[in-house]
Amino acid sequence: MATEAELKAAGEKYIPKGYDPALYKLRHSLAHVLAQAVVERFPQAKPTIGPPVEYGFYYDFDLDVNPSDGDLEWIGNRMRQIIKGKHAFKVREISADEGRELFKDNPYKLELIDGLTAGKDEYGNASADAPTITVYQQDTFSDLCRGPHVETTGDLDAKGFKIQQVTGSYWRGDSKNKALKRFHATAWVNGDDLKAHLARLEEAAKRDHRKVGRELELFANEPVFGSGFPMLLPKGATVRRLLETFITDYERRAGYLHVFTPDIAKKELYKISGHWDHYKDSMFPPMDMGEGGNDDEELCLRPMCCPHHIQVYKTKARSYRDLPIRIAELGNMYRFERSGVVGGLSRVRCMTLNDAHLFVRPDQVKQEIAGVLSLMKKAYTDLGITEYRFRLSKNGDPDGPATDKYVDNPAMWESSTTMLREVLTESGMPFFEAWNEAAFYGPKIDVQVKDVMGREETLSTIQADQHLPAKFELEYKDSDDTPKRPVMIHRGVISTMERMMSYLIELYAGAFPVWLAPVQVAIVPIGDRHFEFAQKLGDQLLDKDHRVDVDLSSKRMQAKIRDAQLQKIPYILVIGDKEMEANAVAVRLRSGEDLGAKPVAEFVAMLEKAIATRTLK
Ligand code: ATP
Ligand code: ZN
Ligand code: ZN
Repeated sequence: MATEAELKAAGEKYIPKGYDPALYKLRHSLAHVLAQAVVERFPQAKPTIGPPVEYGFYYDFDLDVNPSDGDLEWIGNRMRQIIKGKHAFKVREISADEGRELFKDNPYKLELIDGLTAGKDEYGNASADAPTITVYQQDTFSDLCRGPHVETTGDLDAKGFKIQQVTGSYWRGDSKNKALKRFHATAWVNGDDLKAHLARLEEAAKRDHRKVGRELELFANEPVFGSGFPMLLPKGATVRRLLETFITDYERRAGYLHVFTPDIAKKELYKISGHWDHYKDSMFPPMDMGEGGNDDEELCLRPMCCPHHIQVYKTKARSYRDLPIRIAELGNMYRFERSGVVGGLSRVRCMTLNDAHLFVRPDQVKQEIAGVLSLMKKAYTDLGITEYRFRLSKNGDPDGPATDKYVDNPAMWESSTTMLREVLTESGMPFFEAWNEAAFYGPKIDVQVKDVMGREETLSTIQADQHLPAKFELEYKDSDDTPKRPVMIHRGVISTMERMMSYLIELYAGAFPVWLAPVQVAIVPIGDRHFEFAQKLGDQLLDKDHRVDVDLSSKRMQAKIRDAQLQKIPYILVIGDKEMEANAVAVRLRSGEDLGAKPVAEFVAMLEKAIATRTLK
């Protein structure tokens, strides 16, 4: 039999990779403390499972009442008492029979014990370990658990956690099973960390692009379209057009050639490219044109533009002097993202990528990637994106489970990965490496940004590919007249229009810099006699290509100003008698700051400067 120290040490291996071990133990231990308090409050409650999650933990109970706010307060107070009691977390190994006796009133724990003896862990996953069954006890409460935990409840901070809410759940997450009550809590090392987290939550809720998108009428979701298919409303469409022009102008100056290629192609194309073998799960099922159609073809909505841009390359013979060839497109793509992960604009099923494929000679790879990186940095600076980090995204972990997600060509993976690692190292930019994040055809450099909750997502990506050029037998004629194979660089600089918009909405909490604001100027005439002047001023600004809203409603001035501020319009121009006489405007900012009266010409100069410098005001 293992000693208590050995059993505790064995628990450590269950801490998931990347999870802070101290937080994991603390949250796991608090889950037991919560369970003790819940069972004391509701003796009929049957604890099921209670794992740590991002930012805290939950615990599911079979419980027939809806806990009131008073109950939650009682439970929180009782937890603080248990913490102050400094009770040790004691562990012992038990036999299955002992376990069945100990938990005879709890069918869920009995099912878990059956699972453990059948070689499954407490979450029902197959486990390679010998079926050791352990029970952890603190104070009067025992729970079936593999650990790990802190040493005593005294290691927990009574001010470091908060019970947030109780929601419904199901045993094993299956709606056919018994409905359970899930207690959610957030938990941290101390009260300051908890406060910081709660403040972040509050800030995140304010900036959430779904909320802001609705309030500013940027986009909307229509159930009859289906999830993952948002529509951009006029203001959102304006922002998107501006982003598109912004990036395509940059690309044109960097020598990219823009094309339009079809969103749909024969299945055959994706069989050649390997999408069919490695990426089918992310594609919409093909459309069979056999019946009713004129054709017995199967057609696919494209999940990526690479095979299409390859066809552009292939339209004529290429020589070493023509390379690099940079083919770009605001490419529409369709991906069958799982319904659980789609939401708002950040992960959708129909998207437009700022895509390009560079066909280059092997000796040009590094310099071209460096060019993409510098383009990316310029674009980020203009967009105001200052915090990001680089990830070298590799294929499957050699020590991990086997996968058919990647093309099987070890030499190719090795050389492409080395190439990208060298580019990153030579550029002097810090980066980290991650397994299992590559494209199926090659490794990537991904540019990772954090959302307001600190979750990472990819904005830009640069990929080195020697697979597709081989599959499509791409060639160029070298200086010695022999045919050679180009390398392909896939890259997206400002991501999909959808994801970039979601990111920018949250970055700016909807208060876009002047050049990106859907409406840049709100004109507020105080009374009817100022309408004509307001309208003329509006036309004058429109003529200069500025985006203006003239508020000719019968609302009072203060209400009009407030509306414009809520819409996060950068400049609000109030027009009364004095302004009309002086051909001036009283300028206010969306922040509420009052800049006083300015001659119209002076205001226009100010506006144009803000646009040119891409600033907030
Ligand atoms: P992810 O890992 O986010 O699923 P991916 O690795 O499949 O993306 P790529 O094929 O490299 O992504 O796509 C290029 C870029 O398009 C990504 O870096 C990301 O910024 C964006 N993107 C990918 N999928 C979606 C989506 N479903 N909705 C919005 N943007 C997306
Ligand atoms: Zn535990
Ligand atoms: Zn591609």
